[in-house]
Amino acid sequence: MRQWFPQRVTVLGSTGSIGKSTLDVIALHPDRYHVYALTAQTSKEALLAQCETHRPNVAVLDDPRDAEWLQNALSSAGVATEVLSGPDALCQVAREACVDTVMAAIVGAAGLLPTLAAAEAGKRVLLANKEALVMSGALFMDAVANAGATLLPIDSEHNAIYQCLPAQHRGGLTQYGVRQLLLTASGGPFRNWSASEIAKVTPEQACAHPNWSMGRKISVDSATLMNKGLELIEACWLFDATPDQIQVVVHPQSVIHSMVAYDDGSVLAQLGNPDMRTPIAYGLAWPERIDAGVEVLDLFQVARLDFEAPDEERFPCLRLARESMLKGGAAPAILNAANEVAVDAFLNGRLGFSAIAAVVAEVLSLPFTGDADTIEQILVADQWAREQAAARILR
Ligand code: NAD
Ligand code: MG
Repeated sequence: MRQWFPQRVTVLGSTGSIGKSTLDVIALHPDRYHVYALTAQTSKEALLAQCETHRPNVAVLDDPRDAEWLQNALSSAGVATEVLSGPDALCQVAREACVDTVMAAIVGAAGLLPTLAAAEAGKRVLLANKEALVMSGALFMDAVANAGATLLPIDSEHNAIYQCLPAQHRGGLTQYGVRQLLLTASGGPFRNWSASEIAKVTPEQACAHPNWSMGRKISVDSATLMNKGLELIEACWLFDATPDQIQVVVHPQSVIHSMVAYDDGSVLAQLGNPDMRTPIAYGLAWPERIDAGVEVLDLFQVARLDFEAPDEERFPCLRLARESMLKGGAAPAILNAANEVAVDAFLNGRLGFSAIAAVVAEVLSLPFTGDADTIEQILVADQWAREQAAARILR
């Protein structure tokens, strides 16, 4: 396939952890990439600095007053970026005709519509925003297929599996001789803690991940293992797998990013330093390889690799996610929405750490009769689950 350079890139969520790493990789290759649009929710100062460095055509903030502030600041600085505001503008910069690649790095359900817009417009979609796929799996994968979009997973585990599958892989496992996907998990900061210790975890403890530096929401998800649950659902959709074809393997060093086991006994793994610039560079350059600014792994320093089974008693979120995928329909969207509300309450001191799983379990057990065949239905399920979760959290 002939690539024309520079590729024009929209970075949704550019002020976040993944967004910043994406701009770091792009800055190493000014001949290959041109930043078309940058977006943030409220971080207007950070977005101003990014616009001064990367000179995008468009910048997007949520609030019109923030957008006006940014437009004035950019004009004073002599930067010609046009500033837009609101959720529709996110979809607009994701589907814009001149854009080649969209990095979907907004956190949570807020990223669903712009990520879907990029897929429907047939872009190269670099998917970090796993919640979008968890919520709308079938619909999203259909949009990718119908529009001929190129979907490249950025989540390190899925990126590893993608690299370990045959290049001609187009979904499904058995026809490629794949027996199992081995999804690795660090186990989070509380891997060896007792249930009673886990119950007292504070937001600061939960956000201090041993191996990865990430946004606050995904850090809490990693600590509860909900992140691995969301990733199990993500892997089912990306690779057309069933939950029983995926084995979660706790691997505390986070050096093996995931593996694929084949019928002949071969197990292929992708290894590297735990640095998101590697999968980001892979997605940006695929099928080529470019410098990510990441050191090659020093195996003598790693010295050993450990593996253990996940404990779903102390970390029930993994089981809840698997059950929601088996239930199907709106259940994964309900799980995701209840989790987002519970994690937000935990981060704001309104909910204990162990209660996150309890709230999600309770909302999942409630009868919900809606379907999940259209985006409108998925958004109804999302809203319903948010209300149910909020009603179970003390204010
Ligand atoms: P983050 O919190 O650091 O950044 C989130 C970005 O989204 C910010 O730019 C923020 O302004 C924007 N945003 C948040 N809410 C928004 C809203 N309502 N409307 C518009 N923009 C909004 O998050 P992150 O750690 O960079 O994670 C981003 C996504 O990537 C998540 O879905 C996460 O699960 C996934 N991911 C992250 C990592 C990682 O290492 N950080 C690894 C794998 C997957
Ligand atoms: Mg991951």
